[in-house]
Amino acid sequence: MESASTSDFGGFHHWKNPDHQSIGKTALEYLQKLSGPTHIHISGKDPSRARAVVTLLHDNEPSGLHAIHEVLKHRVEPAVDIHYFIPSVDAAKQAPGFIYRMLPHHKDLNRCFTPPYSESEQDRLAQELLRILTALAPECVIDIHNTSSSSPPFEVTTFMDERHDALVSLFTRRMIVTDLKLGSLMEISESMMPTVTIECGGVQDPESNLLATEGLNKYTTYENVLTLSHTDMSLEFFYNPIRLELVEGSDIAYGDHCLLENGVTLLPEIEHFNFGFVSPETRLGFISGELRDCLRANDPKGKEKLLDYFRTVDGELYPTRRLKLFMVTTNPEIARKDCLFYLLEADANSGASVIL
Ligand SMILES: [Zn+2]
Repeated sequence: MESASTSDFGGFHHWKNPDHQSIGKTALEYLQKLSGPTHIHISGKDPSRARAVVTLLHDNEPSGLHAIHEVLKHRVEPAVDIHYFIPSVDAAKQAPGFIYRMLPHHKDLNRCFTPPYSESEQDRLAQELLRILTALAPECVIDIHNTSSSSPPFEVTTFMDERHDALVSLFTRRMIVTDLKLGSLMEISESMMPTVTIECGGVQDPESNLLATEGLNKYTTYENVLTLSHTDMSLEFFYNPIRLELVEGSDIAYGDHCLLENGVTLLPEIEHFNFGFVSPETRLGFISGELRDCLRANDPKGKEKLLDYFRTVDGELYPTRRLKLFMVTTNPEIARKDCLFYLLEADANSGASVIL
């Protein structure tokens, strides 16, 4: 067995062509064998070319690691060199495995890929990953995630062209295009190489691991993943969704009656609206206090749109119009630190799907 060793790649342990026995029987067993941020390099048929895969930027999103483990276990020979990056190994390993999105008091690693950089461990790791990607110059990067609640798969990009469409269609047909800058890895698309975020579906959805594995198989073995010749799939585009966020000082809970004296209570069933529609009659939850003191909904230009889309009736929260929701979470921690969900006007995207 070739053991993992610290290379001159700094924060990442470099592991080239791990042998079959050394990867464990399951993704969790494999994770236990890794010690810290890991870079696995698999030689392909054409070593003059390379592609990169990143996963576990969020520690509780295991489908990407599962897919990598499957592909390594089945010794699938890649078409080109493949570089796997698994940054958040330590947090993911906290028993019983894949519990934290990030360790308590740690920064969200997937918000650290654009300046200003701080001296935090996550900023340093993000910069190290960017340095390695620059040196390796892969033809593209995919970053594999799970959603925190049950959801169909989708993809997020900040950039649109045939190369991004082609990468996405290896995994899914739903494509969210956003100008919103949060410091996530996919934002390097504009300055470096095509990079897309794949959201495989919820951790609890049994299809998520399968989707990640099938997509990764294609990504590693296809001769060409950046033109649309490999697909006849039609993509559905969702442009510039609005994030519904908690106002600082407000709080959130999930339940079928109002649970907070000051804040937002959402119905737990709200996750079933992922990529579905809500109408002005759909009760979403309860608000105590002023709506604007609890929630904000800025469009990507920073313009406040909350009252365009939401209203309260006797303390109950309703949409003002038909909306499409996605990335709905029922995890209060994620709702507090990130957002409650994304939304678009239901009719804004009609006719936006194109046949490729
Ligand atoms: Zn994630």
